[in-house]
Amino acid sequence: DGNVKRVLCRLYNVDEAPQKSAVEKALWAFSETLLEPTNDPWTHNQAIMELGATVCTPNKPKCEQCPVQSLCDAFSEGTQTERPVKVAKKKTPHHHIGVGVISRKDGRILIQRRPPQGLLGGLWEFPGGKQEDHETVEETVKREITEELEIEVEVGELIAIVKHAYSHFKITLHAYHCCYMSGDPTPRAATDCRWVPLEQLEEYAFPKANKRILDVLT
Ligand code: SF4
Repeated sequence: DGNVKRVLCRLYNVDEAPQKSAVEKALWAFSETLLEPTNDPWTHNQAIMELGATVCTPNKPKCEQCPVQSLCDAFSEGTQTERPVKVAKKKTPHHHIGVGVISRKDGRILIQRRPPQGLLGGLWEFPGGKQEDHETVEETVKREITEELEIEVEVGELIAIVKHAYSHFKITLHAYHCCYMSGDPTPRAATDCRWVPLEQLEEYAFPKANKRILDVLT
């Protein structure tokens, strides 16, 4: 019970999160120590739950009204609002992705197909990748396109910025117009690539974030 854990963490001024199994074991042991003089588990549990629900509340414990104040280590240390210790939330990773909408003189646009396995497997996308610490997003776009397709492009204007969240990370997609300069597109990680007329792009299955770039283009 959350009320019981909170009261015990405060009474014993436990400085670790009660979700840890070692801490949980220690709380059980504390509870048994408290129970011993009464030997009445039901009344004991009810009393602690009641204390947690009415006096030793999560945000503003009413220590001045508390019947066990003299036994409370957190009260004597002034740490009652820091107990129980909260588990630090993991920050969701956030990546900046630079992609290029590469067009050549006849107006066709180059797209590539992701490998069938893994995230977004088999979908088509605008080429690009993750920004590295030392580079601008424009530099990312140029580098990724050279690495992924072995072609050279000139990075032009920013077309769109799209934010998207996956289950374990977030991305901000920066899409740039790119002018095809040289090289024969050769997919390195992708399974295929094609020059597609703008009006036919909608016939291809794109991931959600790429679709929003497509919406800006068409
Ligand atoms: S003294 Fe305050 S922190 Fe300690 S058990 Fe009582 S209400 Fe909770």
